[in-house]
Amino acid sequence: MDDTLAVELEEVSYTYAGAPAVHGVTLRIKSGDFTAIVGPNGSGKSTLVKVILGLIKPDSGSVRVFGTDIERFRDWHRIGYVPQVSTGIHAMFPITVGEVVAHGRYTGFSPFDFWSRKNGADVDSVLRAVDMMDFKRRRIGELSTGQQQRALIARALIRKPDLLVMDEPIAGVDAQGGEEVYMLLRQLRESGVTILIISHDVGAVMREACTVACINCTLLCHCPPHELTEDDLVRLYGFPVEVLHHGVHHDHHAHGEDAPRHDGFDRLAHR
Ligand code: ADP
Ligand code: MG
Repeated sequence: MDDTLAVELEEVSYTYAGAPAVHGVTLRIKSGDFTAIVGPNGSGKSTLVKVILGLIKPDSGSVRVFGTDIERFRDWHRIGYVPQVSTGIHAMFPITVGEVVAHGRYTGFSPFDFWSRKNGADVDSVLRAVDMMDFKRRRIGELSTGQQQRALIARALIRKPDLLVMDEPIAGVDAQGGEEVYMLLRQLRESGVTILIISHDVGAVMREACTVACINCTLLCHCPPHELTEDDLVRLYGFPVEVLHHGVHHDHHAHGEDAPRHDGFDRLAHR
């Protein structure tokens, strides 16, 4: 057992009804690292994250989180998860932002997690952290996708997680909001939180992450961003990708169909 590793995947495969989504992925994520998973749409990123979180069971291979096999893992309060909300939460969903965030404390083992008296203060502090305090009493379904994303980030943060897993948390968030999320992630990282983020924002990933895992069903590479070559990205996306390496501009473009309108490159280029 190695608890300096937050996540250890060994030869993990997952198939939906005969169609392999993830195949033979071996990946180690060190505690305290900021790791980005990149890859085209449908390349198995969300599936891989669900396997890591124990939401789905791999067909083969093993998953360990903080040194414990996921099947025996019980410290769910140590993990915050921001799921993908590409289409937004339904407008009729009748609960408020404050209630959604408070629910993040509930880890499925005790209702006291949820009803804890100190929730009030925690809800306010995490809502402030994502600049959503003004929306506390609004119905979540009435908000924009970007605002919903921020509420879900607050919901993940209320656990004070050691591992924060985010599935495209910037999709639907405007440039300013995206920058604020990255600032928040930097602070979390400084306080020792391990961050695993799926993102189409290749420019921001290059700037923020300490390692990048390129996934297209199989793991194509896992390395620090500066070691990622344009060839790696061409192999990943199937066409040239626009990235900045150490301030050098490479003249290409890539957007997933659900890529955010603002990519990291735009923000960097306008600095
Ligand atoms: P990504 O997050 O990289 O866009 P996903 O992990 O969501 O990719 O999906 C990987 C592949 O698995 C895709 O081909 C997708 O259509 C398929 N898939 C995802 N979820 C399901 C599901 N619940 N049932 C069947 N196929 C699915
Ligand atoms: Mg996905």
